[in-house]
Amino acid sequence: MSSGIFFPLCAMPFSILMIIIFFKKGYIKNSETKIYKILLILNYFGLLIEMLCTLAALIYNKYSIFSNFILKSYLIYLQIWTLLFTIYIYNISSEKKIGQNKKLKKILLILIIICCIITYILPIELIIKDNFQTRYTTGLCVNFTYFICSIMIIIIFIILIKNYKNILNKKYIPAFIFFVLGTIAVVIQNIFPQLLLITYVETLICVLMYFTIENPDLKMIEQLNIAKSQAEKANNAKTDFLSNMSHEIRTPLNAIDGFSQLILEEDDIKVIKDEARDIIAASQNLLEIVNGILDISKIEANKLEIVNTIYEPSKIFDELVKLTKARIGDKPLDFRVSIDKDIPDYLNGDYVRVKQIVLNLLTNAVKYTKEGFVELKVSTVKKNGVCRLIISVKDSGIGIKKDNIDKLFTKFERFDLEKNMTIEGTGLGLAITKKLIDLMHGNIVVDSIYGEGSTFTVALDQKIVNKEKKEEIKEKKVSKTIAVKGKKVLIVDDNLINLKVAARLLSTYKITTEEVSSGFDCLKKIEEGNNYDLILMDDMMPKMSGVETFKKLQEIEGFNTPVIALTANAIAGMKEKYLKSGFNDYLSKPIDKGELERILRKYLNAK
Ligand code: ADP
Repeated sequence: MSSGIFFPLCAMPFSILMIIIFFKKGYIKNSETKIYKILLILNYFGLLIEMLCTLAALIYNKYSIFSNFILKSYLIYLQIWTLLFTIYIYNISSEKKIGQNKKLKKILLILIIICCIITYILPIELIIKDNFQTRYTTGLCVNFTYFICSIMIIIIFIILIKNYKNILNKKYIPAFIFFVLGTIAVVIQNIFPQLLLITYVETLICVLMYFTIENPDLKMIEQLNIAKSQAEKANNAKTDFLSNMSHEIRTPLNAIDGFSQLILEEDDIKVIKDEARDIIAASQNLLEIVNGILDISKIEANKLEIVNTIYEPSKIFDELVKLTKARIGDKPLDFRVSIDKDIPDYLNGDYVRVKQIVLNLLTNAVKYTKEGFVELKVSTVKKNGVCRLIISVKDSGIGIKKDNIDKLFTKFERFDLEKNMTIEGTGLGLAITKKLIDLMHGNIVVDSIYGEGSTFTVALDQKIVNKEKKEEIKEKKVSKTIAVKGKKVLIVDDNLINLKVAARLLSTYKITTEEVSSGFDCLKKIEEGNNYDLILMDDMMPKMSGVETFKKLQEIEGFNTPVIALTANAIAGMKEKYLKSGFNDYLSKPIDKGELERILRKYLNAK
């Protein structure tokens, strides 16, 4: 059998199979698969034309015009296939895809048409030898095809050299195969002109390309692999986080436990007070850790909100200075403070978060500086009713390596662990700080020299409060007194210590309290006709939860006492959940004095 029939016949089943698989499986629509689709179909027709060429050779003497047309069509096929393959290689290497640009597409189409016309015009000569065993074409038409294909090959070569860094990417495999097998095919064909291998090689390339293009199966495997490695990373981060957290929580807990036991054995009231202060400091540290976890959970649930209110910035910075001094304690650190005197009296913004941001930076500066100084500098730029607070926190501490600066705001990241063994931290602070600054549309810049110190500079825009508003606030302040003496509050909590703490806190306002330890007891009290001005209700209680108790209370005729959810369940979205359930308000444990006073003022203040 003539090789003009033999090789295309062998390649045909592969070509058909690839077309069926490609179209049946579906494919991801992008510029590469679009070209691949055309290459596949084109290759199929190329094989057909090549077989027809054998027929054309047989009838060449009788129907030379028809035969020439077929023979030249095959050459045109070779040119177009090589051109498309070159575009394919270009597209996988470049951001800008040929094909997406309509103008370029038109130019290419015109070029193809010109090539076709030239090919059909130029003469071709058919050589037949050995009783049809050997047939090939020569002439200007064939030389032109070689010329076009050579240009394409040079272009592919240049693309490969330009992208030598990514050359090992499997996407380039078809290009290498094209070079290797293409060269072998051309050499063989030169030695044995009867062996027509080129279209066969192209079919082989098409088959290989299928495994390198973005097909759904491969994409799915790739995505599964990415998901797997992400899950593994997240799991490792969680494990590290938990072990770190357990250590972090144990430290203040150890202080609370130890000092409490010491207090029980101590008679000297001065020592007891000192130790009680240490317990408070350790509890606040513990609360900071828990709040950090809460903030991260809110960030992940996209529930971290900025709540703007009017505040006095100078007060905030005074508090921050006091807190930092307390944190410095006996450390040999010079704390330098410089706050712009022209800072507006009142600003509108989320002062809780502003404080949290600066405190975090100051705490880090103190933590990561053994000796030298920590400096807080606040300057302002006022424009169009907005005050830009430029807050910089500088230290002469351990500094941060250049490579680590980019990772600084990633949660759970802590650096220089050998050096910082004794420094407590969760790696959450800066991640939260950055998120808060982003939410406030602010900016943070880090400048650090490893071993010498760091400077964190934050810019936050806060609205300046005008004069009338200021007067309003002053008036409001007068009515900020709490007049709740003699009011009656029912506290519902299954935990006796929590009951005791809440009752004790309320007693400082001369409020009368009653405590019950279950939802059932609460319902009983109300059903017995006891009247209260307010109910503080824990949610997580055995048998009947706070929410269930609340629902049952609503069914009691004439019940209209405000009920506040008092719960340690403070993760993202919980407040909204309780308010949605009908609770009048929400107070998280441990009870914040300011929040408690807000609630007392709102629900108990004498009218
Ligand atoms: P934490 O301090 O709880 O570990 P942060 O998110 O606040 O977490 O900080 C992340 C890491 O960045 C720290 O563990 C520390 O390695 C580094 N870092 C932060 N602030 C400073 C600073 N002022 N000087 C040196 N290193 C710092």
